[in-house]
Amino acid sequence: QAKIQNGGCQFFNDSIIRTFLRKLDLENELRWAISRNQLTLLYQPQVNIKTGHLNGMEALIRWNHPTLGPVSPVEFIPIAEETGIIMDIGKWVLIEVCKQLNRWLSASLVVPTIAVNLSARQFLARDLASSISDIVGENCCDPQHIVIEITESSSMNDIESVLPILHEFKAFGFQIAIDDFGKGYSALGYMKQFPIDILKIDKSFVQELTSDSKSAVITKAIIDMSHGMDLRVIAEGVETQEQLDRLRMMNCDIIQGYVIDPPMSTEQLEIRYLKGVRS
Ligand code: C2E
Ligand code: CA
Ligand code: CA
Ligand code: CA
Repeated sequence: QAKIQNGGCQFFNDSIIRTFLRKLDLENELRWAISRNQLTLLYQPQVNIKTGHLNGMEALIRWNHPTLGPVSPVEFIPIAEETGIIMDIGKWVLIEVCKQLNRWLSASLVVPTIAVNLSARQFLARDLASSISDIVGENCCDPQHIVIEITESSSMNDIESVLPILHEFKAFGFQIAIDDFGKGYSALGYMKQFPIDILKIDKSFVQELTSDSKSAVITKAIIDMSHGMDLRVIAEGVETQEQLDRLRMMNCDIIQGYVIDPPMSTEQLEIRYLKGVRS
């Protein structure tokens, strides 16, 4: 009996140690990821549900490490936040997006908006909006092409300090989207105060749309509420035709998900959406 317990305990320790070492490894390697060109961006199309036209896209970061292999942002973004590396990563993402916008615009391609994800941690920098606006200006981009995505939970953490930053973003001409809506605190009162343009319904609701009637009711309510407030609604994580049909019946504006396209390279995106619609 004692032996089994001991064995179980040993296994437990091993797995904790492995998790710890993995994190340490990622943390050390992440510091070099930018300078060693290991980061890339993929872009996921967001399409108009009625016309099928490209409405915008979301930039999603990828880290490909030579020995660790591909590491998911779900794993490394929290580490980047804890260590503060997210500040440099956030800046890198923005510069990349600006460069890409310029490439497309100078090729006379009609480019819709590109959405970038910002972490809660980035909002601790009081000058966030002006520093991002500076980067965009230095790279000769128009803020109107950029959507700032902020998660519902990170914006709720500290409304007093986040709210003025969001107003600054708006004043500079950026658009603002609330990501993962419905998943976090869901205090509807703040929707009234926040200067937002787009609301993204969390994928957990979308994915239960056809199996759980309550998720369907909530999704419909979010769509109607958004329209009443003059916001655009994006349903994300749309994987099946059934989900898409339901969202169309509910009058959803824009969809993003595997049923349309996964996140893809700029080359793929050009071929599928941008070539042939020259301005
Ligand atoms: P998110 O902002 O909620 O991004 C949506 C995630 O859903 C992406 O995962 C995307 O690839 C995935 N997705 C898209 N369509 C579908 C679908 O039909 N079904 C399912 N199950 N998933 C779908 P990804 O790329 O792994 O990114 C995960 C999270 O990492 C993002 O969640 C975001 O919070 C964070 N992240 C990604 N890029 C950045 C970045 O540049 N900066 C920051 N701060 N966070 C980022
Ligand atoms: Ca997002
Ligand atoms: Ca999301
Ligand atoms: Ca998220």
